[in-house]
Amino acid sequence: FRRPLIAANWKMNGNRELVQATATMLQSIDCPHEILICPPVIFLADFPKSTKYCLGAQNTSSEKAGPFTGEISADMIRAVGAEYVILGHSERRSLYGETDATVLQKAQQAIAAGVTPIICFGETLSERQQEKTMWVLAQHLDAVYAAHPDLLARSVIAYEPVWAIGTGLTATPEQAQQVHAFIRQHLARIDQQAAAQVRILYGGSVNAENWQTLFSQPDIDGALVGGASLKPAEFAAICQMA
Ligand code: 13P
Repeated sequence: FRRPLIAANWKMNGNRELVQATATMLQSIDCPHEILICPPVIFLADFPKSTKYCLGAQNTSSEKAGPFTGEISADMIRAVGAEYVILGHSERRSLYGETDATVLQKAQQAIAAGVTPIICFGETLSERQQEKTMWVLAQHLDAVYAAHPDLLARSVIAYEPVWAIGTGLTATPEQAQQVHAFIRQHLARIDQQAAAQVRILYGGSVNAENWQTLFSQPDIDGALVGGASLKPAEFAAICQMA
């Protein structure tokens, strides 16, 4: 059994009003899934403690501590309530030069601090058009998990096709299922049991209209929601879909 995880990635958006509105909305719903909010880290401590949701960060340092001006360590995000951290998001990879090696270091720091990494992978539009999707994903997955098989049982995976992020274009349920199944099969060659148990989230223009059919796919274990997570009522509706 893989307990579904519905995660909000606020990116660099939101304020204290959105913290309150989101916390109040989620407090009022009943949902069997795990719900996760990843606001900018500065707002983590503003969330009231709740059994209805947990909290995460969107990034963490690849170093444990020391002279790294502007960085925030995994121990620090843990101390303000983060149980998860999103790593290797395509925006971090394309805008801030993060590589699989950086992502791996960050994941190791997170795990050492007791924070579960949600590691993001996805192909670009040109990679998909050239029919390189599975090949590209295999390279990135191997760079992290073939190199460190122990990480698999301790992480969550997010499949986020780059062309679907913030564009209003979603993968079709069939396209997403095909990739999720590929990821799970590929990882089974590294650790069969961990691959069967790892949660694979879908991200890329998820909203209250399209989530139901995506979620009905057998290898889609939850969502990583960007824009729609900034609207508390819509995010709550997504969380409540079975
Ligand atoms: P959107 O839902 O805004 O497309 O963002 C997806 C995403 O990048 C979540 O991490």
